[in-house]
Amino acid sequence: MTDFKREGSHLASCPPVEKWDDWVELDPGSWPRRVEKHYQLVPTICFNCESACGLLAYVERESGQIAKFEGNPLHPSSRGRLCPKGPATINQIHDPDRILYPMKRSGPRGAGKWTRTSWDEVLETFAARMRRAIEEGRREEIMYHVGRPGHDFIMDRTLQAWGIDGHNSHTNVCSSSARLGYLLWHYADRPSPDHANARFILLLSAHLESGHYFNPHAQRILEGKRSGAKLAVMDPRLSNTASMADYWMPTYPGTEAAVLLAMAKVILDENRYDRKFMKTWTNWEDLEVDGFQARGQSFEATIEALKKHYANFTPQFAEKESGVKAEVIVKIAREIATAGSRFASHLWRGSASGNLGGWQTARALVLLHVLSGSVGTEGGHNLNAWNKFVPKPFKVPPPQKGWNELLYPPEWPLSTHEMSFLLPHFLKEGRGRIDCYFTRVFNPVWTYPDGFSWIEMLRDEEKLGLHAALTPTWSETAWFADYVLPMGFSSERHDLMSQESYAGRWIGFRQPVNRVLRERGGEKFECTYQANPGEVWEEDEFWINLSWAIDPDGAMGIRQYFESPYRPGQKLTVDEYYGWIFENSVPGLAATAQKEGLTPLQYMRKYGAYEITRDVYGQNEKPLSEAELSGTRAESNGVVTKQAKPVGVMIDDRPVVGYNTPSRKLELFSRTLADWKWPEFVLPEYYRSHIHRSAQRASLGEKAADFDRKDAPAVEWPEHARGEVFTLLPIFRLPNLIHTRSGNAKYLYEISHKNPLWINAADARKLGGIRTGDLMKVHTEIGYFVLHAWVTEGLAPGLVACSHHLGRWRVTKDERIERMSSAWVDLKEVGKGQWKMRQLESVSPYDSPDPETKRVWWSDAGVHQDITFPVHPDPVSGMHCWHQMVRVERAASDDRYGDIFVDTNLSFGVYQRWKALARPAPGPGGLRRPLWIPRAVRPEESAYYMKR
Ligand code: SF4
Repeated sequence: MTDFKREGSHLASCPPVEKWDDWVELDPGSWPRRVEKHYQLVPTICFNCESACGLLAYVERESGQIAKFEGNPLHPSSRGRLCPKGPATINQIHDPDRILYPMKRSGPRGAGKWTRTSWDEVLETFAARMRRAIEEGRREEIMYHVGRPGHDFIMDRTLQAWGIDGHNSHTNVCSSSARLGYLLWHYADRPSPDHANARFILLLSAHLESGHYFNPHAQRILEGKRSGAKLAVMDPRLSNTASMADYWMPTYPGTEAAVLLAMAKVILDENRYDRKFMKTWTNWEDLEVDGFQARGQSFEATIEALKKHYANFTPQFAEKESGVKAEVIVKIAREIATAGSRFASHLWRGSASGNLGGWQTARALVLLHVLSGSVGTEGGHNLNAWNKFVPKPFKVPPPQKGWNELLYPPEWPLSTHEMSFLLPHFLKEGRGRIDCYFTRVFNPVWTYPDGFSWIEMLRDEEKLGLHAALTPTWSETAWFADYVLPMGFSSERHDLMSQESYAGRWIGFRQPVNRVLRERGGEKFECTYQANPGEVWEEDEFWINLSWAIDPDGAMGIRQYFESPYRPGQKLTVDEYYGWIFENSVPGLAATAQKEGLTPLQYMRKYGAYEITRDVYGQNEKPLSEAELSGTRAESNGVVTKQAKPVGVMIDDRPVVGYNTPSRKLELFSRTLADWKWPEFVLPEYYRSHIHRSAQRASLGEKAADFDRKDAPAVEWPEHARGEVFTLLPIFRLPNLIHTRSGNAKYLYEISHKNPLWINAADARKLGGIRTGDLMKVHTEIGYFVLHAWVTEGLAPGLVACSHHLGRWRVTKDERIERMSSAWVDLKEVGKGQWKMRQLESVSPYDSPDPETKRVWWSDAGVHQDITFPVHPDPVSGMHCWHQMVRVERAASDDRYGDIFVDTNLSFGVYQRWKALARPAPGPGGLRRPLWIPRAVRPEESAYYMKR
């Protein structure tokens, strides 16, 4: 458990754990009288982003109601601190517009007619349909599509117990590009930077306010800064993070890899690289580039070949590309070399997710770590797999046999995750159909590009048989479902969470607060929905019960994985599921619990989190154990193999674990890319993104230049598109908002509810004197949206920017649907595939059981930009490339704020132009994708081979 004295925590006022059963505070509502309120404090885990911070629910002893949420000081990652979204959980659970009962559509899809139904009816309907699909050999027609993950582990188990290849995710509109760049180096697809102990930190994201794991990371970045670390931020926008930095590098978007490679060149040319580390831990001997072959050559000769290869990346060239001054690039390169093993960095979305080839930014960034010898070190760049803890449950089902090409189609064999944002286009092309579709906290109509293609797909009963939206809140997508199934927020469900948020390993336990407290008082519940508001359930029990309903007598082989490990043949309970994991799979937990006279489950219910270990570094150097060594052989290149598969590597004549790559080293040279038809990218490289200035000029007829991707798809402007060409940055977020779930969180929407178009003052002048608040029309390749301008110096000329997370809408005025955050719109299909949306009424005060809804003082719901974007699948990573060229003009007199138009016929055309860039499987040996690259819910190996 975290020692807060050692950590130097300032949270002296956090309730000590011995007082959690009866914590007393003065009631602020009774001021100036001193009225005491007594609370029971129950730990759980925040559900409002991936960070999984620890919450404490304050439950009034008198009423049994949850009064507020604060931070759990015993949670090793968040250490009692929260961002605004954590405490706003109270708004979510008391939202008068929330969904409380399972509902079934009673009119045509999307018509908004619903009737309340029972959980039993839901289970019977889906079980019958799924049983039929499985028995008829149509397993690939069952799909689970997750938006917000957050129940680690149980879903993979469920899908494999059903024997289906049906896991879909949102990752390819989020982070899969950076993931590819990272995994090509070291298999782990995310870094675990040790910010707290770093001497120099480089962020390619808005990490102090909104990046991945930002609250846990932000604390540690500031600790690093307090100990003398310097902070550099590369971001085209003057974000709050950039404003806190020692160096702000406002790069032209998509040129970040050029800047990083210029820094690499400085370190190489000045011979400030960590020779020992590079020689020991990279696969430099495999290098084959520009006619040079390292095998048989010296390390020094290889370094010379690298210097030659990167000779063009002078700081002056990088300045010309990016706008960052050459002297700043040189200075930061030297700072990194000086920090050496204590150089930490982070990149998640931003540059990687915006650009064609954005995955190269991650590769170029890790090159700096390799040069500075800061991989696996204290204060350096560690691997997520070393810090994220994944416990093993009992009786694991075997991997599924099939391969679903709606998830992993042959065109993108290196995509780290499912090509989920292309699903409507795949169905339009006739690649398959879906019979049972479960969406989980997933709102693609609103959060994905090309949302109208999603509406067309969701409406089509031929292509999509039955759709259940498992969701805690209403969403634009749930409106088009057949069933809307209410699932719990943070204090209404069970989940296990663990993230690589610092150099340690921990596990957190989300739990249903009311149920836990009432069971402490002696009540018993068969299902969590009996203790939650209305009949709000949780997925764990839903999947267990659904699996029993599919296979009631166990004849299909499914039920066995949902039987109790303690009571053979009986239905598994959540207490048993988690109890078994805590007893058997979490090192040290059972002994720690025993010291307090608790079972491991009781311990986790009491504290909500457990730190397994800390100061985890250099796991690559772990010696192979006797058991691991048995049956191995050392190959001539030093790789230790077992049954022809690499399992370790010889370092200084010692067999150690190494990295999980084919060479078991950091892959400076990627044979995988050469083998999979991308020989031009065997080293970290830079080429111009689809939105580079030269592409802007090319879209107006100019010819291509050096570093241009000659194959970048040309922009074809629709007829209506007029105005100046800009690059739109659409993927930054306001730190207090979540995609869909923050909708009716009043504390959050009160803080921000506008997403204007950022435009530089010089551009505003060029466009005829645009002022803040003027109405602008932004044309994309498939349509347009209309919004207000915000004239600023916080963004470079030539760019415009608009935050996502705003612009919610509903097609009905009166229903109780997200009234605090959404506009009532008129949505019309004016021609085949041509969609128009106009806001009829925006946010205004309204009556509800919460008196504060009458005090709503804002009247803006924002503008939905994502729905006007076409899909841009990167040919290598498969990631949607979010940045795009747009044309911007002053809105016309008949344009209104929030107007949207999209032609999905055009979006299908853009999809096909980008698809043409791909270099499809098969790869070597008829493989669909490299065997060593990770895949979500991995099927058995035979499924990796394409059938002739
Ligand atoms: S960072 Fe904020 S939203 Fe994310 S888990 Fe922590 S408190 Fe919740």
